[in-house]
Amino acid sequence: MGCLLNREIDLDRFRCRGCGACVEVCPDAFCMDEDGEKAKVIDSAKAPDEAVQLAVAMCPTQCIELHKREERGGRDLCSRMEKKG
Ligand code: SF4
Repeated sequence: MGCLLNREIDLDRFRCRGCGACVEVCPDAFCMDEDGEKAKVIDSAKAPDEAVQLAVAMCPTQCIELHKREERGGRDLCSRMEKKG
């Protein structure tokens, strides 16, 4: 869970098909865009970790990824590894 304390959420809008599942389970982090066709990230810091991870798990196109924000400015993919371990 530690890597989510300082996280970034990446949402690949090209792959998003606008089902709205992420908005439904985690409205603190996601909303639909002005056209209502694609989701976008509002604020990655406010949302509970469990809700963000649920949104990642429920996305049918797997276009949401969580990244750890590194102090040096780099980042590592962590969400998929956490689910396995
Ligand atoms: S769950 Fe995935 S496909 Fe559905 S709106 Fe959110 S990002 Fe787009």
